[in-house]
Amino acid sequence: MTEPTVFSKIIDGEIPAEKLYEDDDCICIKDIAPKAPTHVLLIPKKPIPRLVDATPEDQALLGKLMVTAGDIARELGVDDAFRLVINNGANAGQTVFHLHLHILGNKKYTEDDGLGF
Ligand code: AMP
Repeated sequence: MTEPTVFSKIIDGEIPAEKLYEDDDCICIKDIAPKAPTHVLLIPKKPIPRLVDATPEDQALLGKLMVTAGDIARELGVDDAFRLVINNGANAGQTVFHLHLHILGNKKYTEDDGLGF
């Protein structure tokens, strides 16, 4: 067994995070060290370490993450300009080995943009 990552601990409620969205398959939290005015992380509950560790069994989940990322970008008011980033491997800057999508938007979200925060 590998050690649970910080994201597994957030999913399990063992450590706090600013959660913007959650469903049966994924959660979205604010990044603790934002690198853009809008910087949130979309994390599948299934602890897939890296994108390359995903299998055909994960195809529906990966598709759902893409659609959900679009929905979240729309809710945050950055749907006209955002980047979706997955760092795969330490040499690409991955520091948490639990697959996650960075949603990076240049416009700062406000409380009016939705998701109830
Ligand atoms: P990566 O470098 O692609 O693995 O991204 C990991 C991201 O997780 C970084 O942007 C960190 O700032 C972020 N991060 C690490 N710990 C936490 C945490 N406890 N809550 C929210 N974001 C975190």
